Amino acid sequence: MTDQAIRRIVIVGGGTAGWMASAAFSKRLDRREVEIALVESDEIGTVGVGEATIPHLAVFNEMAGIPEDEFLAASQGTFKLGIEFVDWGEKGERYFHPFGPHGHDLRGVHFHQLYLREAQRRALPDIREWSMSGVAAELGRFARPGPDARLPLSQLVYAFHFDASLYAGFLRRRSEAEGVTRIEGKIVSVDRDGTTGNVASVTLADGRQVSGDLFIDCSGFRGLLIEEQLGSGYEDWSRWLPCDRAVAAPCALPGPADPFTRSTARESGWQWRIPLQHRMGNGIVYSSAHLERDAAARLLMENLEGEALGEPRHLSFTAGRRKLAWNANVVSLGLASGFIEPLESTSIHLIQVGITKLLALFPDRRFSPVERDEYNRQIKDITEDIRDFIILHYKATRRSDSDFWNYCRTMDVPDKLASKIELWRSKGRIFREGAELFGTPSWVAVLLGQGIVPEEAEPTATAVDPALVSDALEKMRLSYRQLAEHMPTHAEFIARACPAGSDPVFASA
Ligand SMILES: Cc1cc2nc3c(=O)[nH]c(=O)nc-3n(C[C@H](O)[C@H](O)[C@H](O)COP(=O)(O)OP(=O)(O)OC[C@H]3O[C@@H](n4cnc5c(N)ncnc54)[C@H](O)[C@@H]3O)c2cc1C
Repeated sequence: MTDQAIRRIVIVGGGTAGWMASAAFSKRLDRREVEIALVESDEIGTVGVGEATIPHLAVFNEMAGIPEDEFLAASQGTFKLGIEFVDWGEKGERYFHPFGPHGHDLRGVHFHQLYLREAQRRALPDIREWSMSGVAAELGRFARPGPDARLPLSQLVYAFHFDASLYAGFLRRRSEAEGVTRIEGKIVSVDRDGTTGNVASVTLADGRQVSGDLFIDCSGFRGLLIEEQLGSGYEDWSRWLPCDRAVAAPCALPGPADPFTRSTARESGWQWRIPLQHRMGNGIVYSSAHLERDAAARLLMENLEGEALGEPRHLSFTAGRRKLAWNANVVSLGLASGFIEPLESTSIHLIQVGITKLLALFPDRRFSPVERDEYNRQIKDITEDIRDFIILHYKATRRSDSDFWNYCRTMDVPDKLASKIELWRSKGRIFREGAELFGTPSWVAVLLGQGIVPEEAEPTATAVDPALVSDALEKMRLSYRQLAEHMPTHAEFIARACPAGSDPVFASA
């Protein structure tokens, strides 16, 4: 290592972001050279929500050496095959955004083009019928495709639901076992280097000082270092994402846990439903300009499917991103770096992206602007792409039953999103650009699901023999259904693979 190498990392905050960073850095950095300390305050606590993920978390598990079943057992986790959207296009409608592809391409033509073409000739079932994850979710079934899985099982793609507090606790135990030092205490002041302006140390209420070379700000919405100290600025996206409040409450499970998240559109926002092994996570995300706090809490409690297991918890936020996610020697992760509402469960993924990119651009104590600028550019691009996909859900509504939906339906959207919708409307074309997170199947699911049907399929699709298309679609559809019918139920799979409490730490306690 050079003299300039980072020797001490201080992570400020012990929520999901802080402990994910700690679990990853403690595995990926040379621990003979780098010390890691994490400061958290029991008095302040964590946001305590954030329980649905997307499939990429498996890559994080791999990076941090986390065995999947162990982590699910420790966090009361379940499997997630996608999201069911209820009442989003119009009241009474539902559709499914599955993980993984729809069908497979034929003669170089995208599956969804074949589907659109066939749908012009005859009434077709929902496109979900051509998704392995979609059909398994509908039947409440699950099987884990191994590395050598063949079609159609290889098209089953999954993520996880888990209890956020148990997940943070699990990562904490692993990090501490790897030598990360946890410091409990409330940070009351921050010292900066007079020459560079870099953060030099933080001071706790009892006077202890914690110094470091690199600070990771995981302090939540306030951004203790990145904003309160460094004034990095916040880009506000609430004109496109008007929801700014949430209220959450767990309830008992009404039956076996479904292998999917449900999002139900409400008059001024939407309600989430996340089934875990031991309870259901619920919450309403809403616009405070259209719904009052007490009315939101009442709406949530009236719509729980089982006995309430806690009082409603209220949260406030502003959709947007920190203008400089990395500033001086501070890199912000999690809520400190910004927040896009949880409609597609992307926040934990953005923590993962931040960690991965920081490791890829890891600085030394000179803190070269080249690394920092590249990090900030990449984070900006990926965040904006996710933002546009989330805005699509609001814009593509046909609901006109409330001021909230009238606003969303008629609002202007970012230019890039507007062009994407227009391109789709004419001949069903979707192009994935750069490092965009959501691919064609995701856009197709939401666009079709919310009733934006292209005028026609593209010429290459109409050139394929219609009998061939018809036959191929039918065979694919049957193959998904037949396989799903032979899978274990989701509950059976969990009982066998990862029942709560079967992780080694719990078992030895
Ligand atoms: C309503 C809602 C629903 C969500 N649902 C999802 C979802 O389904 N999927 C998803 O991916 N994401 C979701 N998220 C986002 C997810 O919850 C967060 O990304 C995740 O929990 C990370 O939070 P955090 O660690 O950044 O912040 P926090 O959990 O707020 O942790 C902040 C930490 O900083 C510490 N701290 C703060 N100030 C000080 C101080 N002065 N001294 C010492 N310590 C301090 C606190 O003690 C705490 O440990 C949701 C968010 C909200 C608001």
